[in-house]
Parts: sequence; structure tokens; C-alpha cells
Amino acid sequence: MVEACTYSANPGRVVFGDDTLGRVSDEIARLGLKRILLLSTRAHERAACALAQRLGDQAVGVFPGAVVHTPVAVTDKVMELVRQLDVDGLIAIGGGSTVGLGKAIAWRTDLPQIVIPTTYAGSELTPILGETVDGTKTTRTDAKILPEVVIYDVDLTLTLPAALSAASGMNAIAHAVEACYARDRNPLISLLAVEGIAVLAEALPRIAVDPQDRSARRSALYGAWLCGTCLGAVGMALHHKLCHVLGGLFSLPHAETHAIILPHALAYNFAAIGESGVNLQKVLGPDPAAALFSLCAQLGLEHSLREIGMPQSGIDEAASRSLANPYWNPRPLERSAIRALLARAWAGEPPESYNQGVV
Ligand code: NAD
Repeated sequence: MVEACTYSANPGRVVFGDDTLGRVSDEIARLGLKRILLLSTRAHERAACALAQRLGDQAVGVFPGAVVHTPVAVTDKVMELVRQLDVDGLIAIGGGSTVGLGKAIAWRTDLPQIVIPTTYAGSELTPILGETVDGTKTTRTDAKILPEVVIYDVDLTLTLPAALSAASGMNAIAHAVEACYARDRNPLISLLAVEGIAVLAEALPRIAVDPQDRSARRSALYGAWLCGTCLGAVGMALHHKLCHVLGGLFSLPHAETHAIILPHALAYNFAAIGESGVNLQKVLGPDPAAALFSLCAQLGLEHSLREIGMPQSGIDEAASRSLANPYWNPRPLERSAIRALLARAWAGEPPESYNQGVV
């Protein structure tokens, strides 16, 4: 039965395919822009400069200094450049870190953004910005933050290393899993979520075997598009809160943290999510949390927070922070159960069995 709901779809234009970099110039013209600043990390500097060259007079500069967690000090530098070069539009080419820098500038200036994602993180489809001041990451949501155009180019993802592809794909799946049981879920987003999980669960093992498998790469990028749409449309719950806390407290790598926590967060919530759990069972089998744990193993991902740098002494602090200003969650947050969840994730143990009470 379709539940009562309210759904506001985000505006935005998506160009998806192979070799779509060739479409960037037309998209700039379509937006009526003439003075574009390109943003990237150091790792993508060459790609950003090559694109700037290809754009000719449409590009007025390249800033290759994006870094993880969007520190305001970096944003301030780019703001200066935006003024000096009289920039009228932004292109971010890279993963969530670069996309975050573009969003930070757009929030301050309302400049139009064209985003060319190279990971599966999904930030390009959300009006959410996380930025860091003095080591504290704060999140805000604003329509100005949502990019105007997203250009998905399968070719750009071929260089994403197998391990990062796996972790980033699990990061995308996490958006879809939490969208399925979001408080403000709706049947359209649930459809996208289930399809996103299915597509990624099928494509990621193929990428792990052969990172150059173009058909698998195309599927995974499509899955990232679906899952990013979910992230931008409905609220997230315990899983995203835990990852936010762990990333902030211990500077853990973003995508890898998501991959480790997801089976545990789903196991924690499963008995409380009713029909949403049935949707997940349709795509992941009778035990979705165990299936995600197995998928991580198949992809060669770490199971333990210990392996990615979290100290055991941090478990209590992480549990306390997760209970402070909590996100809405389908199952009430119980300190001892959250602590036990974190202890299992720290040690790399499988998620707790949740079979009692499953619909
Ligand atoms: P990232 O952007 O930090 O990239 C990780 C690494 O991969 C970097 O070294 C990067 O240079 C490299 N890389 C990226 N694409 C590559 C490619 N195609 N080939 C080779 N190397 C490549 O990582 P991420 O996981 O994409 O993004 C994480 C950041 O995004 C975090 O700060 C997170 O908070 C943010 N994020 C925000 C939202 C949102 O809605 N606001 C959503 C998801 C993630």
C-alpha cells in the first residue's frame, strides 16, 4: 500500500554517458556563462587544466587546491580568485571534496555550478554543504548549494582505484538504504533507492575484478546517480550520523567508514523499519545487513574501524557524540546498543543478528 507522503523534487539537469566532457562547452553556453573557474584536487589538476584548455575563452582559471572536508580557509582563497577573475560560473571536476568546494563558493555567491563527479559519493545531487572551521565540520542545507548541472562521464571513473571504487560504491548504497526507511520517504525515492542498490551490488564486484570494465563502470555511475538523488531528496538517519561523528572525531576516510558502518546500522534498525525492510530484502535477500557485510568482503574492503585508524579508546566518546543532537531514527537510540554496534564495527565483527521481529 502506498503511504501518504509529501515530495518536493530537486531541480537540476543531468547529462549522463561516455565521453560527455565534450558536452561541457554547450552546457556553459546554455547557462549563458562566459567566465568559468574550474576546481579540482591536486590529483585532478591535469584533467582540470586539459578541460580548461578545451573550453578556450569560456574558462578564466583553474584552482587545483580542493581538499577533503571543505576547510573554510581554502574556500576563502577561492573567493578571492572569484573576485579577481570576475568569475560568473564554476566547474567542479572530482569527488565529493572538490564538489564540496564548489558548493561552498555557490553558497556564498549563488554562482551557477556545473559538476563533473569522478566518484560515487553523490554530493553533486544534494543541496547540502559540509564545511570545516577550526576542525569542526558543520552542515547546512540551502537551495543555492544545489548544482545546476551534473555531467556524468563514465570515462572519468575508469581511473578510480578498485579499492576506492568499492568503498565509494558502498557510500552510495548507504544513501539508498537510509532513504528506504527515511521518516520523509516517498514511493518514488524508494523505487530509485532499490534500483540504485541493485545496480551497484551487481556492478561493484565486476569493477573489483576489472576496474577497466566499462559496462560495469557505466552501471555503477548510474547507481551513484540514483543513490545521490535519494540523498538529496530525503533525510538520513543513524548510519549517516555515526559516519559523521566518526569522520569528525578520528579523521577516518569518508567512503571506507560508510562501508564498515552500513551493515551494523542496518542491523540496528532492521526490526523497526517494517515494509521498507521488505523492499531491501527483495534486492539484498532475507538478511540485508549480512548481505552488505558479505558484499564488503567480496570487494576486499576492510571490516574494522581499527584497520582504518580508529582507536579502541574512542568507542565511548563516539557513542556519546552519536546520541547528542541525534538524527531522527526508526529505532530509538539506546546507548548500550549503539556502543555495542561501534565495538563490533571497531573489531570487524559481522552485524548483530536482527531476526526477531522482522516482518
Ligand atoms: P574525495 O573527493 O575526497 O576523493 C577521494 C580521493 O580519490 C582523492 O584523493 C581524489 O583525488 C581521488 N579521486 C577521485 N576521483 C578519482 C578518479 N576518478 N580517479 C582517480 N582518483 C580519484 O572522496 P569522496 O568520497 O568522493 O568525497 C568525500 C567528501 O565528500 C567528504 O568530505 C564528504 O563529507 C563529502 N560528501 C558530501 C556529500 C553532500 O551531500 N554534501 C555527499 C557525499 C560526500
